Amino acid sequence: MQKLIEEIKKTSSDMARRGWAESNGGNISLRLNKDQFALFDGYSPKSESFPLPVSMPEIAGERFLVTGTGRFLRNIELFPEKNTGVIELDSQGASYRLLWGYEPQGAPTSELPAHLLSHCSIKKKTNNQSFAFIHTHPTNLIALTYAVANLDTKSLSKLLWQSHAECIVVFPAGVEFLPWIMAGSMDLGRATADAISLRNLVIWQYHGICGCGRNLDEAFGRIDVAEKAAEICLKVMAAGGAKQTLTDEQLRAIAANFRCEVDQRLFE
Ligand SMILES: [Zn+2]
Repeated sequence: MQKLIEEIKKTSSDMARRGWAESNGGNISLRLNKDQFALFDGYSPKSESFPLPVSMPEIAGERFLVTGTGRFLRNIELFPEKNTGVIELDSQGASYRLLWGYEPQGAPTSELPAHLLSHCSIKKKTNNQSFAFIHTHPTNLIALTYAVANLDTKSLSKLLWQSHAECIVVFPAGVEFLPWIMAGSMDLGRATADAISLRNLVIWQYHGICGCGRNLDEAFGRIDVAEKAAEICLKVMAAGGAKQTLTDEQLRAIAANFRCEVDQRLFE
């Protein structure tokens, strides 16, 4: 239990210190693996059953560590039992109950639909090997969605790949760009789940990013690299624009060198 809590404390405080989690911005969910799941065996439910907006049989019976609605990520480090909770889905994936946390009372993040629907996609696409999902507000990535005209998945992926030579290795499938959709809505949840089935990072225009990974470190790392690239990109724009950049040939060579499976359609 201590190890699990330490993991979310580390990730949430890193996010807060980077300025990605102002006020109650940003949220984290971790689908518990076999060992983590067993930690909560024998816990009596602390709440009634709350119906989910749609049934999610793909994640029926699973347990998740989820940050709380209205809670500040920067406070998880101090009071994890207040700012995070563990929920358990029923055997149909139609409702959830609280097993632990949100002291003295509370509920999971308002972005729960995006988290749980994305976990369905992530579990399927990684053959049950990925467990972490993070949504956060990195300043430079958000700024980029204002500063560049006509952004789409192809142009944004290429721009980030070109802004730092490591990007194509960390996210060879690129980043999926979602034009603005209302926060907390089922529409955003569904669009994010579809997007994350294609790529490990999803940009929400004017709002932030979502990332997945085998664990919180991997999800955090992917977002961190994309944010660094966005920062470089904005600095280059502020300095008068790129006078040269990585060519398609160089990008393909990096990917080949590190044996990364690049989404070739992003080059077309
Ligand atoms: Zn947000």
